[in-house]
Amino acid sequence: MQPQTEASVRKSFINCSKGAASRIGIPPAVLDADWDKQFFLAWSDPKSPQNAYVVAETEDGLRGISMEKRSAKGSGGARMCQLCLALHSSTGVSMVSIPTTKSSKDSYGSVGGYICTDLACVDYTLGTKKPEGVRQMEETLTQEERIERTLGNVQRLIASVAEKLK
Ligand SMILES: [Zn+2]
Repeated sequence: MQPQTEASVRKSFINCSKGAASRIGIPPAVLDADWDKQFFLAWSDPKSPQNAYVVAETEDGLRGISMEKRSAKGSGGARMCQLCLALHSSTGVSMVSIPTTKSSKDSYGSVGGYICTDLACVDYTLGTKKPEGVRQMEETLTQEERIERTLGNVQRLIASVAEKLK
């Protein structure tokens, strides 16, 4: 992706107020990304780790969404991240709730999803990190195709939130 600044990242959020976006904790490593490899941004707020953020380039420019991780119920089975399709043990994937309203004053709406708890989807897609203890699907795609697939999933998720905000 194009190198981004703190200001451009904060401005990108579509489902939180300007004030809330200005208070999001962004670890320095996020803005210090290797922009050639980092095809989208994802992180948890260090001060409140249940709050997670995803920012990606879309047809409409840089778009970010805020979401809240729900504690996973340990069912024992493997779970799949809907963005990078990595398979994890049950705690490796978190259920997230993504508000589809701009401020908490609006009537509550949200969409749900299942996303890697560590938000390392970029690393799992690039193969620089592997989920522990769970056998992965056999992949026949090239790395470039896997990047396209993950980014497409991210953009679709952002679009589904944007659609509900209208
Ligand atoms: Zn993932």
